[in-house]
Amino acid sequence: MSDSPNNATQAKSENVDLYAKHVKIHPRKDHGLFNKLRNSAVFILLGIFYAFPWVNWNERQAVLWDLPNRKFYIFEMIIWPQDFFFLAAIMIIAALALFFFTTVAGRLWCGYACPQTVWARALLWIEEIVEGNRNQRIKLDKASWSGEKILRKGLKYALWTLFAIWTGFTFVGYFSPIRELTPRFFAFEMGSAETFWIFFYALMIWLLGAVMREQVCIYMCPYARFQSVMYDSDTLLIAYDTKRGEPRTRGKPKQKSDQGDCVDCSLCVHVCPMGIDIRDGLQYQCTGCALCIDACNNIMDKINRPRDLIRYTTENQLAGKHTSIARPRVFIYATLITAMLVAVGWGLANRNPVALDIIRDRSTLFRDTGDGNIENVFRLRIMNKDDSAHVFQVEIQGLNDAIIDMDSAIPRVESGTIHDHIIRIKIDPGNLNGVRSTEFQIKLQASDDDALSVSEDSVYLGPARF
Ligand code: SF4
Ligand code: SF4
Repeated sequence: MSDSPNNATQAKSENVDLYAKHVKIHPRKDHGLFNKLRNSAVFILLGIFYAFPWVNWNERQAVLWDLPNRKFYIFEMIIWPQDFFFLAAIMIIAALALFFFTTVAGRLWCGYACPQTVWARALLWIEEIVEGNRNQRIKLDKASWSGEKILRKGLKYALWTLFAIWTGFTFVGYFSPIRELTPRFFAFEMGSAETFWIFFYALMIWLLGAVMREQVCIYMCPYARFQSVMYDSDTLLIAYDTKRGEPRTRGKPKQKSDQGDCVDCSLCVHVCPMGIDIRDGLQYQCTGCALCIDACNNIMDKINRPRDLIRYTTENQLAGKHTSIARPRVFIYATLITAMLVAVGWGLANRNPVALDIIRDRSTLFRDTGDGNIENVFRLRIMNKDDSAHVFQVEIQGLNDAIIDMDSAIPRVESGTIHDHIIRIKIDPGNLNGVRSTEFQIKLQASDDDALSVSEDSVYLGPARF
């Protein structure tokens, strides 16, 4: 059976392109409370990112991932691989906080704090400085190539590139001390790993933040896809009040009761970094930046109509129902976050800055010393996680008349270092627990700080246990 011409025409008209042609978005600059909040967030977060590697603490970089030595410095604290569960716990708290804030107030993270949002905003500022406001940028893009266009575009790309390289350099400065990296960077004497990461990070900033901008949020970000599962009807979201706004009247403030407040000025669309129209309803592309609220409020002020035609609201509120922040899932997230914060805070406050690993020589069960005693050899691995150097003494508890024998005293253990020291513990076999190994404790005591000590309780001396 063949299609009639009408059916064929209909089928043809229903063909849909699977790939939408990219249309460059030129967000318009506006002002208002949410613009201020967003700009402040960008300044604070970028300020922290660019400044922290230059901050020194106790004559070293305050924040540094020392990967070769497997240490992470955060101001006073030194995190060792043994302490990484603290970092894991902090990551879990961050994830729970993300769930909590999303449940309460939607995409706060996307709108104000996500690195993509922050760097895209910074790079857009550069574009605005070089190419002008929205209309000037659109005009420049449409214009044929001229000296001015080449100059402006060239300057913009050059500034983007410098900014991206500075960002990549700062990123690597968190892993390689930045004050030592700087002269090597300018003398082109960096290691291959440093060079790769600086330019790779710069390329990513350039591509994702400057060129792809909203496409990252719309097409690439997995969080945009699954964050809706954290929403419920009481989650704050940014919405257009259709009941109040429609029917819109282009260019004219409301004059009759059957007219809505929207004057169809399209400013809410022009300021939107995602290029969407919030009046079309909730859309996953909306990152919750709230810039359309400012734009619409400014228009409402001009036409003497009440603000908040576009506003933070909830689905329940829009439907005229009761809305509440106090929901079970909000309490669950808040309780989990509080419990984990208390646990991590307690753990960090009570963290012992000295760690001791004891490795018994496994090649011999014990050694007969020839003078009626037996001895076992132990390797003490002393980790000084404190911020200052210490001298340690070894004490044993739980063994009668045992003797500690060392070739040399334990040297001063510098801050943030590991020292391995061999000790031999000698004892008359008559003082052991029969033929079995005897359990005892080895205590490491800082001789310059009474409060600094660490004990290993289950050490065995004698023929069997390791
Ligand atoms: S619709 Fe409004 S809140 Fe959503 S991304 Fe656009 S400007 Fe931001
Ligand atoms: S900014 Fe406000 S008045 Fe203008 S089109 Fe958007 S919703 Fe309508």
